[in-house]
Amino acid sequence: MAKIWENWSGSVKFEPERIEKPASEEEVAQFIQQAIAQQKQPRIVGAGHSSVPLVETQHILISQEKLKGIVGHDSDTCRVDILPGTSIAEAGEGLIKLDLSMHNTGDVDMQSVGGAFGTGTHGSGLKLQNLSGMMVGCRLVDGSGETRSFTMEEHPDTMRAAKVSLGALGFFTQLSIQAEPARQYVRREFCAHVDESMEHLQHLITDNRMFDMYWYPRNDMTKLRICNQVGEGMQDISFGERTKNDEGWLYEVLPQFRDLKYEEMEYAIPLEAGPECFAEVRKRIKAKHRHYVGWRVLYRTIAADDAYLSPFYGRDSVTIALLQNSELEYQKYFDDMEPIFRDFGGRPHWGKKHSLQAKQLQALYPKWDAFLKVRKQLDPDGLFLNGYLKKILGI
Ligand SMILES: Cc1cc2nc3c(=O)[nH]c(=O)nc-3n(C[C@H](O)[C@H](O)[C@H](O)COP(=O)(O)OP(=O)(O)OC[C@H]3O[C@@H](n4cnc5c(N)ncnc54)[C@H](O)[C@@H]3O)c2cc1C
Repeated sequence: MAKIWENWSGSVKFEPERIEKPASEEEVAQFIQQAIAQQKQPRIVGAGHSSVPLVETQHILISQEKLKGIVGHDSDTCRVDILPGTSIAEAGEGLIKLDLSMHNTGDVDMQSVGGAFGTGTHGSGLKLQNLSGMMVGCRLVDGSGETRSFTMEEHPDTMRAAKVSLGALGFFTQLSIQAEPARQYVRREFCAHVDESMEHLQHLITDNRMFDMYWYPRNDMTKLRICNQVGEGMQDISFGERTKNDEGWLYEVLPQFRDLKYEEMEYAIPLEAGPECFAEVRKRIKAKHRHYVGWRVLYRTIAADDAYLSPFYGRDSVTIALLQNSELEYQKYFDDMEPIFRDFGGRPHWGKKHSLQAKQLQALYPKWDAFLKVRKQLDPDGLFLNGYLKKILGI
């Protein structure tokens, strides 16, 4: 029976004909083959945390909620095979039983691994890549309904396209990831003034494994969050007041629980441009938006990588994110701020609000054509391309 599907924040809604929940790779392949035979469009959904219509379809929405768990591992290489519907939280719990960990997580842990990789989801840390940087192999049902297997060693070109691929290449039924030995972490939070935070920004970034900063436009204060392995990094921040001190495994201390629904625009800009871009963002918000901007701005750093559609492709980056409560006006705010990010060569987060279309995006990605070539090889008839993907990929 038809039912309206909604994303996490409620800003993306559509009505698929049906929602299928395959429980095995064979069932995924069957649903894709049926879709081909019936000339229906399948789209793959993870936890529904993206706020652009990447997963929209009028036909068959394929959920991966029954494709969960760690299905193989090699303790010598720390490589693990994981099913795509496993949430980041469940991956953390499963990995720790093998004395392993991811290298980072985003701000929350509700996303599916497949969905998080699919949009280049990242945490913060000068030397830490986005989560898809862990991907060293995959199994995928392609646009012909065929199940294929790829590894970084044997198929580097396909893998660089696959890491951040927006569900446009096929359905990943299994992901091989490079994990690392589990270690204990200390996470501390401090409250400080934004001017002092910016004065010390460079040290905060370089002297901690993970650092990020929330700026609150209404009172010009910041929340500074640092997270390090026990015994390393900054122990204290002299100009800030400590508000939190947690110790535990990474998956326990890093992600936060969020129940307040919000909309977000986030752009990745070159690392060196971060402070200047932030100064512009701050100036514009204070001049025009502070009276109705309900929440905060997030500043993070991410290491360069080689995934063709990664917002961090070939450059160490700063991300600046505008967060606005879902119940408040956000579109006018985002529309007015977006040109600032564009002026700094910003690349938008694939899963968050932005207004860019194929032409503008293509100019930001040196390996755009290489991605499209792999897409065409794996899905020549565009089975997985919904209207939104066609628009942003220019197909
Ligand atoms: C509260 C909240 C906090 C967030 N925090 C962060 C953060 O800290 N850092 C950050 O970078 N982002 C963050 N995001 C954005 C979020 O991580 C991304 O939008 C992510 O893609 C959501 O994962 P999902 O499982 O919900 O995927 P979905 O939104 O359901 O899907 C995302 C994409 O992945 C594709 N996909 C999913 N599974 C597969 C598969 N098996 N095979 C092929 N394609 C697949 C889908 O088709 C779609 O194109 C946040 C979002 C919210 C709502």
